[in-house]
Amino acid sequence: MNTTPTLTPLAAFAPLFAEPAGSPIRELFPLLSRPGMMSLAGGYPSASLLDAEGLAQAASHALGQGISALQYGATEGLPAMRDALAQQAQARGMTASAPDVLVTTGSQQAFDLLVRVLLQPGDTALVEVPAYPATLQALRLAQANIVGVPMDADGLHTDALAELLAQMPAAQRPKLLYTVPNFSNPRGSLLSAQRRQALVQLALQYGFWIVEDDPYGELHFAHAQDTASGTPATLRSMAAHLAPAGRNPVVYLSSLSKTVAPALRIGWMLADQALLRRCAVAKQTVDLCTSPMAQMVATSYLHSGRYAPTVQRARAEYQRRMHALVQGLNAIPDQPLHCTMPAGGMFVWADIAPHIAPQRLFEAAVQHGVLYVPGKAFYPDAAERHALRLSFAATEAQDMAEAVQRLGRAALQAQSA
Ligand code: PMP
Repeated sequence: MNTTPTLTPLAAFAPLFAEPAGSPIRELFPLLSRPGMMSLAGGYPSASLLDAEGLAQAASHALGQGISALQYGATEGLPAMRDALAQQAQARGMTASAPDVLVTTGSQQAFDLLVRVLLQPGDTALVEVPAYPATLQALRLAQANIVGVPMDADGLHTDALAELLAQMPAAQRPKLLYTVPNFSNPRGSLLSAQRRQALVQLALQYGFWIVEDDPYGELHFAHAQDTASGTPATLRSMAAHLAPAGRNPVVYLSSLSKTVAPALRIGWMLADQALLRRCAVAKQTVDLCTSPMAQMVATSYLHSGRYAPTVQRARAEYQRRMHALVQGLNAIPDQPLHCTMPAGGMFVWADIAPHIAPQRLFEAAVQHGVLYVPGKAFYPDAAERHALRLSFAATEAQDMAEAVQRLGRAALQAQSA
């Protein structure tokens, strides 16, 4: 007998996803497809710097090794990949061997795993502000109590942090603090060695984890170095000298996205065993394992001898593009956008002159064919800010003048509107 079932409304979305706000950067994507649009918005590596030939060789080498690239792999990552990433950690001055590394599907996943493992709804998470928006989004979805810590050109303001911590009721003490010490996204700041020391000491004193997110550390510019490696010692290596063995409060995250290729989706976490094991368990239900094929291509690439020259080329080229952008912006009459030169990375943070309304500037910029990310995207409260983020990485130096001219015209239009 054919009876039509009565229709019951579908069960509701979970409250957090009832009206979800998407990533403010990803939601700019439709504007990108407008004809002639120039983008200083996304943190994309330059297409001309991606080593397609080297990666094609690495892929053919990986696939030539029989079925292992085609099979599932261990959740923690393939041993050869973990080993190659531990070597990267050592080159950055940290003690690491393969078992200390968890391979993740982009470093984005590494942060998501940490949030699952460390936070309950209502827990306090400290975040440098302005902050990488996907971090804010992950913390919002975890229903964390997000508390911003101000930063300046020298990175996270540790004096302000010390004051904040001293005033916090014990019940609200933070579980973790998130920072990008090297060429932060979006501010481009480099955390000074002195502040690194102070930050580690505060973490030990108050017992919170530090998430040291470092996708940009390799991209330092030759003429702006504090140390031989271009960046001060990592927070994790500093903490290793102060914390008992096995109790390092710093979790170090990095990625091959900005130096090799984002499409590989290879990120990694370096942490002490107790935390690493828990993150591996969390990862089991997320994706079982990071693509073994991608890991084999990445491992083969890192062993090919092409990595170091590729990164070196990127440093020089990004520095050229950054100069073209900053000098161009500072030459716009009346300086509607004010910025300083970052010492590495992919981003310039510019202050908008007080007489220009940020929203008008953005609309004018879209009309004039240039995209950037409005400053409000980088704050937990998403309130309007007189600032914006520009990425210089994906725009060739010879096209930068045109992008800057468009910004100049947009500023003129916005201030007379
Ligand atoms: N952290 C920061 C600060 C970033 O800027 C990005 C990428 N924009 C990521 C993490 C994520 O990178 P991926 O997942 O590609 O490794």
